[in-house]
Parts: sequence; C-alpha cells; structure tokens
Amino acid sequence: MNTPITGSHKPRLAADALHSLDLKCALVGAGVRYPQEVYDAVADWARLEPPSNPYACNCLILPGEVAVHLHANENSRFALGLQNGKPMLFEEGTPVADVTFPAATNYYQQKTTAGHPFGSIAVLEGRSTLAFFYLWSCDYVKTRETCSFCFQVKAEMAGYDLPSPSYAEVAEIIRWAIENVGVQEVQLTGGTLFGSQTECRRYAELLRTIDQIVGLDKIKSELYCYITAARNPHDVDQIFEAGADRVGHDLHVWNPELHARFAPGHARHVTRAGQLRALEHIAGKFGPNKAFSAFVAGLEPLEDMLAGAEWLASRGIVPAFSVWMPTPGSVTVDSKPPGTDYYRQARREFARLYKTYNLNPPGTSAGSHVSLCRDIYRNMNAILAQ
Ligand code: SF4
Repeated sequence: MNTPITGSHKPRLAADALHSLDLKCALVGAGVRYPQEVYDAVADWARLEPPSNPYACNCLILPGEVAVHLHANENSRFALGLQNGKPMLFEEGTPVADVTFPAATNYYQQKTTAGHPFGSIAVLEGRSTLAFFYLWSCDYVKTRETCSFCFQVKAEMAGYDLPSPSYAEVAEIIRWAIENVGVQEVQLTGGTLFGSQTECRRYAELLRTIDQIVGLDKIKSELYCYITAARNPHDVDQIFEAGADRVGHDLHVWNPELHARFAPGHARHVTRAGQLRALEHIAGKFGPNKAFSAFVAGLEPLEDMLAGAEWLASRGIVPAFSVWMPTPGSVTVDSKPPGTDYYRQARREFARLYKTYNLNPPGTSAGSHVSLCRDIYRNMNAILAQ
C-alpha cells in the first residue's frame, strides 16, 4: 500500500468525506508520524495525549467528521504537522487534509471510587463515544486459543494489569462521561467466558445497574454489547430485556479455514454455525438492525468478506468492518494490509447492502476510530454515486 492515495483521484487537499475515508483506511494501517510540536500547539484545546505515551487512545478528525485512531509510527509516510499554526496531515511531505481533534477533557485524570483510573477501564473514541474493553477476562488465554488480532489479550499476556470493574464502577464512568464529555454512545465489550450463560447474565445485571445509577434514557444515541454467541441463542434475550439497543457477535472472518486460523477459540468452542444461529435468533426475535457482526478487513480475500456481509444483511443483521491494524507480536503482522482499492470496493458493497436491506449500523458521526460502518452509512449516497 505504498501508492499515494491523493494524486489524480482527488484535489491535493481533502475536502470531502470520501477522501477522508480513503485516508482513514490508510492511516489506521500505516500509522502516522506524530511530533511533539503538534501536541504542543493543540494541547490547550484538544483531547490528545503526548507522543511520549505510546498507549494513549488518541484520535484525529478528518474533514467530513471522520474519526481516525492516531496510531503513531515513526516510519509512516504520513505525518502530522503544522501549516500556518494549524494541524495538517501530510503524505510524503504534501499536505493532504486539515485535521482537528476532539475537545480537551480531564477524563483520563479521573479515578473510580474504587481507585481505578477511568482510562484503564474505558476509552473515549471520536467526539462522543465511550468504549469499555475487557469487562471480564478471556478464557481463551487459558487454552492458548486467543484471536490473533486481539489487543486485549496481548495486553494481558504482556503483564498489564487490566482491572475487571464492578458494575457500579462502569455506571460511575458512564455518568461522568455523559455529564462532562457529552458522551452519546456506549460500547460494552466483555472478554469471552466458556460459560456463555454466565456472560449473558452478567451483561443483563450490568445493564440493570447502569439503568439504576445513570438511567439508560440518558444515553442519547445507543448502548450496545459485544458478546460471545451463547450456546443456547435464547440466553441473549435477557440482555435485550435489560435495555440493550443492540448486540454484536463478531465473526471477524467469513472464510471457514481462515476463521479457524485467526479466531481458533471461537471456531472450536462457539463454532461458526453457532454464531450464525445466534445472530439469526436475534434478527428473528427482535427484528432487523438489532444484531450486528463485524469483520476485520484484510484478513481474508475481499470476495469472502463480501459473501459473509451479504449473508448477514439479507437476514436483517448489520454487517460492519474495521480497518485492520497489524500489531507487533501478531501472527498477522507479516502480512500486508489491503490497499485503497480493497477498501473502496468494500465500502461500496457495504453501502449497497445498507441501502438494499434498509440497515442502519451502530455509531455516531466522528465516532469509532477503526470501524467504517457508520462513516459508510452517513455517506451512502455519495459512495454509491462514485
Ligand atoms: S475472544 Fe478473541 S477477540 Fe475476544 S477477548 Fe478473547 S482473544 Fe480477544
């Protein structure tokens, strides 16, 4: 993916969301050089951690309200810089897009009443998304069957002490973030437990606690839960009854062989058929747009991912995809991330599916740092006209 994505396709400086979508895919994959002078110039007003903190969940926002994870990489062909004192994105020295950042907040200085830093439990994404990670541990660590692209278990295996927060702590963080950051969207992600019944029960109890302490109606956009597909698909019903807007069972990869290679725990314990059955159960019982499932773009040939997306969409299940960020230590790190053409074709097909099947993916504008589903939905007509 070394061909510049500007050049003849678009004006030199990105002014539209479609060019920003090209840049988002390229930036998540390739990263960006992030010098201290950019941080110094914006630190008064922007939510941005300094380059000295390599674990920060930093975000930049491109024209068209496209949020992108700031994956710092000193060897990238992209660089953040300043032009006339304003932040700008450069590709091989050429300015390609104006850049802005979410508003400054002291969220990362907060601790729960139990003493856990907010940032060790949940991160802010984009302008108004609060994403919880790893609410409980992943049992696949014990059997060495973790997914090869997973950041969370890598952190655990590297010895990072990620707390398992209490339900009250989760609610406390949500309340603070709504009142002080204007959070509108809440994403909950557990680990994976061998006892899928336990996972469903935990989520239902967590949602009831959030409702008591915060009020689910205070979450203006939506709250959704990523959860391992239950062996008995009906177990998930209690999560909807407790107030979840949607549930995600991520397939990650559609191709059965590659699914088993990249997500061995899922393939063996949940099984691909079990995941599909659980997704169909939600769509059948709770209606279209209530279940969603994400792929990691680039782990399989495009036609395989698109076949999976069509299978889901035709059943009222929202397909989504994230840009793949190769990470050190990953079995996928030697593979090359896909190029711009892969992502352009993927976004066009996902836009067609959203329109054809009347699907509405989760998220807010300038929200997720790596998922493209909401960006595609917001620009659906422009993508289809391209
Ligand atoms: S199931 Fe896979 S993606 Fe989920 S926490 Fe475990 S290793 Fe990570």
